[in-house]
Amino acid sequence: MNQNALTQAIIRQIVAHTRCAVCGHHFSINDVRVIGRRENVWAMSVSCRECRTQALLLAAMAEGAMQSLYTDLTPDEWERFRERPPVSVDDVITFHQHMRAYTGDFSEILEEPLPEE
Ligand SMILES: [Zn+2]
Repeated sequence: MNQNALTQAIIRQIVAHTRCAVCGHHFSINDVRVIGRRENVWAMSVSCRECRTQALLLAAMAEGAMQSLYTDLTPDEWERFRERPPVSVDDVITFHQHMRAYTGDFSEILEEPLPEE
């Protein structure tokens, strides 16, 4: 099986076995899009025609069997974070220094509304 045929087979498996996590609607082949792949793991964007939910699904192929799971990321978040470098030692030190200098407590931070994006 060539790589493209393998990807098509995985999409067909998702269509056959996976439903929208929000409303339970079935997906069609056109609702599933590959947005990334690393070896035997595919990142799939799935869009529900019924409730308009977009979700990120990871599908893994092992020993001829496909397993898939929903992530709690949206496809947009995946696109945004996938190219970011991993957290470095410098990042940890910077965070540590901010925390040492910070004189409030976490309840103040958590009670603030989250920033609008
Ligand atoms: Zn749905």
